[in-house]
Amino acid sequence: IQEKLSALKENAYNTVNTLLTELALEQAAKVDAKIANNETIGLLEGIPFGIKDVYMLQGTYATASSDLLKKYKSAYTATAIQKLLDAGAIPIVKENCDSFGHGSSSENTIFGAVKNAINPELVGGGSSGGSAVNVAKNYTVFSIGGDTGGSVRQPAGYNNIYGLKPTYGRISRFGLMAYASSTDCVGPLAKSVEDIRIVLNTMSGEDTKDQTTYTSESIEETSILDTTGIKTVGYFKNFIESEAIDTQIKEDFLASIEKIKAKGIKVKELDFFKSDILVSTYYTLAMAETASNLSRLDGTNYGDRIDDTNLKESYAVTRSEKFSEETKRRIVGGNQVLSQGFSDEIYLKGLALRDSISENFEKDFEEVDIILSPVTPSTPPKIGASLKNPLAMYLSDAYTVGFSLGQLPTLTVPQGTETGLQITAAKNNDELVLKFANFLK
Ligand code: GLN
Repeated sequence: IQEKLSALKENAYNTVNTLLTELALEQAAKVDAKIANNETIGLLEGIPFGIKDVYMLQGTYATASSDLLKKYKSAYTATAIQKLLDAGAIPIVKENCDSFGHGSSSENTIFGAVKNAINPELVGGGSSGGSAVNVAKNYTVFSIGGDTGGSVRQPAGYNNIYGLKPTYGRISRFGLMAYASSTDCVGPLAKSVEDIRIVLNTMSGEDTKDQTTYTSESIEETSILDTTGIKTVGYFKNFIESEAIDTQIKEDFLASIEKIKAKGIKVKELDFFKSDILVSTYYTLAMAETASNLSRLDGTNYGDRIDDTNLKESYAVTRSEKFSEETKRRIVGGNQVLSQGFSDEIYLKGLALRDSISENFEKDFEEVDIILSPVTPSTPPKIGASLKNPLAMYLSDAYTVGFSLGQLPTLTVPQGTETGLQITAAKNNDELVLKFANFLK
């Protein structure tokens, strides 16, 4: 499989390196031995999967698709990935993505733009673009992406598959390179609700190495197949009446709402923040957090270093030359909003807005069980377009970032189009999200 992947042109994988091959063969040999002994095989045993290249997997490269870390090898294994290895799954590729998760198109990468699985002239979406394309093309059965502001859900929508951002804290972030720690989530991409359920259950659970984690109950297949408990669905008028939404996406969304009504579900229109407020709140906080998180990457402890006249100059030259333009834009923006004179005006205001956004969600979920929305206001852009217009790229995240700020469980379900439908429930209600996905089938 790995040899075949190397010959492909979607740019969906990063490293099919011998280290990963050895690990894959070791995992496979364990399954073979069990089969030879007539032992029972677990659900994930022998199942090939892909890993966004922002996770640690001991001894293998973890590049974050960045020039700075292109030769960096993981010193340990992420908790979520270890749980999959323990369940017998076989990691076959580290997957291409936007560098450090910075982007919505998987073009901010040193490994070449990821091409959309449906139409290769379009972007694969991002930042977990490689992960979505690998699943859509059946190169992997499932992939593990990372979702900070939509990076699992949006590429899932663009490539017509399922992608889940669980409740924040349900899966340990230990070993996931930090982008914006307060919204970073580990998320699976797959071709069915059932595969998402199995992978989610395997990775979930409290972890002493990530103090934001909590213990959650395993989600049973039978309980998500029983779709009787859902009564009310809401959607945000602002999203659907926004000038930015494509006519076709709006029509498709309203048609889905009609279908849901026809099945006897009550539908409510909800008021919410304008999508540009969601985007500016998210980017203010995400840039601040990433500026802080990436300050450790100065060529001393991790990754490539360019030596200069003194230590300070070496840091400056290394960071200037090895970070991409998009990553530098975020570091500069983040440091600005955190700096004296700006932090009260901008950063603290961002935090206050985030609180109101979360309160708004809490109120909504007193009235509705599920919130539905399109995943994106527009269809995937052509390769090259986002790089020329970063602001347009940020605005295209309008429908995903709010749910990240609220730390809510939210799932993209494919609609046979280039965008999907996004199902969101109240915190810790990941089960209801999967149930509703089954209800829609
Ligand atoms: N597109 C968003 C951003 O660039 C989300 C990325 C992500 O979830 N990693 O911040």
